This record gives sequence, C-alpha cells and structure tokens, in this order.
Amino acid sequence: MATLNKEFIEFDKEIKLNENKKLDLKTSKKNIRKNIQKWFNENKPNEIQPKFHGQGSFEMNTGNNPIIEYDNEGNKIYKYDLDYGVYFIEKEGEDNKKNIDTWHDWVYQSVENYTSQKSIRKNTCIRVIFADGHHIDLPIYYKLGDVIEIAHRSKGWCLSDPKLFYEWFNDEKKKKNRLESIVRCLKAWKNFRDLNNTNLKLPSGFELTILATNNYVDKDNLDDSFRETVRAILVELMRKFECLRPTTPKAENVFESYSQTRKNDFLNVLESLLSDCDRAKEEKNYKKATERLRDFQFGYRFPFGNDEDEETQSNKLYSALGSSMITPKPYGY
Ligand SMILES: [Mg+2]
Repeated sequence: MATLNKEFIEFDKEIKLNENKKLDLKTSKKNIRKNIQKWFNENKPNEIQPKFHGQGSFEMNTGNNPIIEYDNEGNKIYKYDLDYGVYFIEKEGEDNKKNIDTWHDWVYQSVENYTSQKSIRKNTCIRVIFADGHHIDLPIYYKLGDVIEIAHRSKGWCLSDPKLFYEWFNDEKKKKNRLESIVRCLKAWKNFRDLNNTNLKLPSGFELTILATNNYVDKDNLDDSFRETVRAILVELMRKFECLRPTTPKAENVFESYSQTRKNDFLNVLESLLSDCDRAKEEKNYKKATERLRDFQFGYRFPFGNDEDEETQSNKLYSALGSSMITPKPYGY
C-alpha cells in the first residue's frame, strides 16, 4: 500500500501559481484596465465609466501553471486564464442600461488591437490574448443597487455575482483543509487529459471547484483525501448528473447544456482517474505507483516516487528512529 502524500504535495507545489507569476499577471490586468478606462474616457465621456473587479481562481488561490504548449513557430506558450469583470455601476435613481451588444462592442473596441492577436468576442466575455499565451477574459456586468447582471450575448441579461462565488469557496475551504490543493490537482488533471485528447472537453475549473467542494472528503493526507473526493464525486454524478451553482443564480444546474457524449466522457475519464488512484494505493513500490498517474492522468509534472517498497521505507524510518533513541548521549551534552 503506497501512500503518495509526499508526491501529491510536490505535485501541488509544482502546479500552483507562484507569487512572482501572480504579480506578472496582476500587472497585465492593471495595464488592460488602464487601457479600457482611457478608451471610455476619450470615446464615451458622457456614459457610465467602467469599474473593474477580479474574479475566478485568482481570488480563490486555485490558479495553476498551465502545461507548456507550443505555437506554430515552436515558441513556448503558457495558457494562463484570467477573468477580470468589467462593471457598469448605475447611479441611484438613474437608468443608463444599454443593449448587451452596445456594451460588448464598446469593450471590444477598447481592446480590439491591444495585443498582436485580435481579441475575440465570446458570448459571456471579450477575450484578449497575449503573445506568451495568457489571456484575459472580460465579462461585462451591469449593477443596479444590489442586483448584478452579466451581459450574455445569447441568453440576454442574467443574474450573476462572481464575488459571492469566491466568497463561498473561501469560506468552505476554512473548514476543508485540503480543498484548495484538491481543486488545483483536479484542474491540472483536466489540463493534461484535455490536451491529450482534443475531442475531450472536461468540465471547467469553475465546475470542478463546485464538485470538489460539495463532495470533499477529509483525510489526514492529500493522497487519500484527493482519491476519496474523486470517488465521492463519481458516486454522486452516477446517482444524478448535475452540478448546482451554490450562489446567484443559486441552484442553477451548470451541467444543463451538456450533451450525452460529454456526460459519458466525463464519467469515463473520472472513473479511469479513480481506478489509477486505487491501483497506485495498492501498489507496494513507490515508483511503480506513480508511473500510471504520470502517464495517464497528470503528466510529467507529477513526480516519480523512489524505486523502493513501502516496507523498505518504513524499515528505514524505523531503524533511523530506533538508532537515535538508543544512541547514548555523552556526558555533559
Ligand atoms: Mg476564463
């Protein structure tokens, strides 16, 4: 029985966004904010001026380093995914709400040629892509009093509150010790599996975050806690394939639009993750235990275990402890 706690912790360290990179990405957000503000100031001086608010994994400390990819010229690209909300906040008693397309157009125009790659219009945001691979998504919100709506180009105005979501998560993780790490591991797993099979589209980081939180199993090491949380997610999804949004719009099933193929794919791949975690646990040799996880689930960023058996390791530990306990200390020590 190999417990890969050390390896999981090392993996988590490897994938977790470090402080320097965080600062880099923060600067990138700050610069785009200034650019958009300047555009509105110059081009729409009499309209509501946009305000900005962070959201997503950045606010929950669940951001990952992505697996390195390569562009057509063979340059390394790092697909960091940032979300930065653009808010049009209404003054009390006024009504300056625009058409969804108007605000989308304006924000798009303000960043259209911000980088060498043309920005992309999506249903829920404008996406700005940078040469090094990272992108900033700019969802657009209208706030009137306490009510916040997102400008969704196909669904219309929808109630939304990204701040409530990350506050919910940050609150949950106070009670759930290893939740943050488990979310990062699941996202790194998705990154590897999606890259290896372009037909696959595993749930988003946001959806995996909800599933991990709702099905969290506490154990005294990360290996067991991760594996048992995965098991709990699978059991729950086989019972009922849904994922309910915990905050506004509360109880919306975010899996609603999944096709049958996408559902089956997710269940199959999740089952394979669980079975490899179970096999790793049963394996005596640490190196062998990590091999399948590296090859099929997490990729090269997951470390190799030592090429020794669990008994060998615990014997070593025992003799190390034993000898220190029986070595007599010299007088005067
Ligand atoms: Mg995004």
